[in-house]
Amino acid sequence: MRSHGYAALTKSAPLTPYSFDRRDPGPLDVAVSIDYCGVCHSDIHQARGEWGRGIFPMVPGHEIVGRVTAVGSDVTRFKVGDPAAVGVIVESCLACVNCEQDLENYCVKGAVDTYNATTYDGAPTMGGYADSIVAPEHFVHTLSPKLDPAGAAPLLCAGITTYSPLRHWGVGPGKKVGVIGLGGLGHMALKFAHSFGAHVVQFTTSERKIADAKRLGADEVVMSSDADTMKRHAGSFDFILDTVSAEHDINAYLQLLKLDATLCLVGIPEQPPAIHPFSVIANRRSFAGSGIGGMRETQEMLDYCAEHGIAADIEVIGFDKLNESYERVLKGDVKYRFVLDMKTLGKA
Ligand code: NAP
Ligand code: ZN
Repeated sequence: MRSHGYAALTKSAPLTPYSFDRRDPGPLDVAVSIDYCGVCHSDIHQARGEWGRGIFPMVPGHEIVGRVTAVGSDVTRFKVGDPAAVGVIVESCLACVNCEQDLENYCVKGAVDTYNATTYDGAPTMGGYADSIVAPEHFVHTLSPKLDPAGAAPLLCAGITTYSPLRHWGVGPGKKVGVIGLGGLGHMALKFAHSFGAHVVQFTTSERKIADAKRLGADEVVMSSDADTMKRHAGSFDFILDTVSAEHDINAYLQLLKLDATLCLVGIPEQPPAIHPFSVIANRRSFAGSGIGGMRETQEMLDYCAEHGIAADIEVIGFDKLNESYERVLKGDVKYRFVLDMKTLGKA
């Protein structure tokens, strides 16, 4: 199957039109014609080689929604024409202790990313900045007609990456929860934590986002540069989710945790963070991490969003604005996720 999209040919090149072959759908595969794909900060990190591993040419994109165009003979959950979605992984061993618990994202053999990876057969994977994708049914999600497809696309990464740790650490009524960074992930974390009934404090470096944070569900908004306010919150949080994409001082936030509370990192800055031992020794705090979510939980999250009217706040763009969108994300100039409209492919 010929697929047309946009790729980074090297880590220093802008994204340009690129055509490539997808495998024909096998018995367990679903072929999807892509309508929308979100632009995640992970796309930028990887297209620019910031995580030290880059397979080029690279077609980024792992927030994919579209419609089914073909199904393999053993596929049971989809038929041609159904809405469908693909997220950050497209293969795992499905047999290890973690896969057996529906945690394919923590597959012992290693889950295969939707792009910038190779399948177990050794073929390079290509992401959703393209007109089609083929993936095993197990890694394809159904989409409720209640969800707007463009607004749902970012749920496949920004949504599940924040939903999963908030659920895992029991965020809900009576809990004081912090979200650091109001970007693509941060604004979904804020919506979910608010929806789960927690008292939510949004931390931001951007004064211009304060009103939006309140509109999106924050009970309080703290400018992280405001030392007095930061001090007032010391030792008071049950859980903090750190979604920041660049270097920042995590110790300043660890100090805000109460006894036995956890700060969970989901942001992946290029440089590793420096943690002061006393930041975690005091109050017996935990410093944790979390990566996307399993397939069962991703479907649960999509269904939760459909039921509760939750979607990403998006700006739909054409491919002519793709490279510019990367620069705007890096400047924090996005409310709060860019989503590529596949109808603009070939017209850029
Ligand atoms: P994004 O939209 O760019 O949001 C990041 C936010 O971080 C910005 O909006 C900004 O919020 C804050 N920020 C940026 N630079 C900062 C700095 N120098 N100091 C302090 N705060 C800063 O990015 P995203 O798409 O949400 O992704 C966030 C991170 O999560 C990325 O590193 C991405 O690779 C990672 N990620 C991880 C997973 C996972 O499974 N763990 C999945 C997806 C993405 P304010 O303006 O409010 O300060
Ligand atoms: Zn992502």
